[in-house]
Amino acid sequence: MKTQEYIQLEETYGAHNYHPLDVVITRGEGVWVYDVEGNRYLDCLSAYSALNQGHVHPKILQAMIEQAKKVTLTSRAFRNDQLPLLYRELSELSGYEMALPMNSGAEAVETALKLARKWAYRVKGVPRHQAEIITFENNFHGRTISVISFSSEPLYREDFGPFTPGFVSLPYGDLTAVEQAITPNTAAICVEPIQGEAGVIVPPEGFLRGLRRLADERNVLLIADEIQTGLGRTGKLFACDHEGVRPDMMVIGKALSGGFYPVSAVLADEEIMGLFQPGEHGSTFGGNPLGAAVARAALRVLRDEDLIANAARMGEYLLEQLAEIPSPHVKEVRGKGLLIGVELKPEAGGARRFCEALKDRGILAKETHQHVIRFAPPLIIDQGTIDWALPKIREVLLTL
Ligand SMILES: *Cc1c(COP(=O)(O)O)cnc(C)c1O
Repeated sequence: MKTQEYIQLEETYGAHNYHPLDVVITRGEGVWVYDVEGNRYLDCLSAYSALNQGHVHPKILQAMIEQAKKVTLTSRAFRNDQLPLLYRELSELSGYEMALPMNSGAEAVETALKLARKWAYRVKGVPRHQAEIITFENNFHGRTISVISFSSEPLYREDFGPFTPGFVSLPYGDLTAVEQAITPNTAAICVEPIQGEAGVIVPPEGFLRGLRRLADERNVLLIADEIQTGLGRTGKLFACDHEGVRPDMMVIGKALSGGFYPVSAVLADEEIMGLFQPGEHGSTFGGNPLGAAVARAALRVLRDEDLIANAARMGEYLLEQLAEIPSPHVKEVRGKGLLIGVELKPEAGGARRFCEALKDRGILAKETHQHVIRFAPPLIIDQGTIDWALPKIREVLLTL
């Protein structure tokens, strides 16, 4: 079948909840993907940072095949011999005492919010069902009804109310607003250390440290959603590490499975995680042995291949090179590590047409929030590959 036939099938039989670039991928390997016509593309999105280890990493593939032959799902009604090992490895890697595994990122965010509410009632002493959670404008934490209840994006919300109460939304980066918004009922502050979906918005230096200080002073939990920024993407294990901040709860997902399988988790110390009692939370697939084995391999690859340091080095190089392109369309180039946003001026006519032009030259990137092109290739990328891509990116940014 040809590209157009696949597209037509998809449009006919599938819900139209995405607006993908018209490339039909049939194979991936490392930083590259191949379409059904045999064209090769450099993947500069990495499935929104789920593919930090690259496509079909052989070591993760091997772990997945081996585990799939043994046992794939036990449910948490019984124990399995992979999850305990994942728990220990997550703890050794992150420094948090405990973890709770889920599948999608949104589920892990919901898990953290539930835990924060329970902490508010059982530890802080907030009157039952009065807990408030502070969030930030232009956030992206997922698509469930509770999570979109604190989204500021009209498209995500418009036709989907009524919403879950108990959330406050403040300007991102504004510590004074946070200080004023904290009440005795505030359970937690939930923040992305860099807002990826909003267009790679990096907060002012000191924002995360300020949140940590306020959370400590006012007896509030700090929750970092590192689903996109975590596991090496920004050149540190967690983006919070850039400011030396340790949140009370860390939410991870995406690259936790190297793109093979949905695995997410909430990390916290026993003092907080210990609050969950049997029956209060769960998931049929969360913590399954297949996902746990895949996640263990994905974390090993991250460490053994020194991907975090590579992300720092390659990210610095790519950012520098992109910033030097004298394009009349570019307003700003920003980011950390290999999470880079090129914001175009409003008069550039939107990022979509630039992404289409990049696609025609063998580079897959996706517009985010209309005016930003995100460059977030797998963390295994080398300088030779970046040097292959730069002339094409230059050509698009200069001649379109
Ligand atoms: C992708 C993402 C989520 C949601 O993850 P899903 O697996 O799509 O549910 C939540 N928070 C952030 C910061 C993300 O980038």
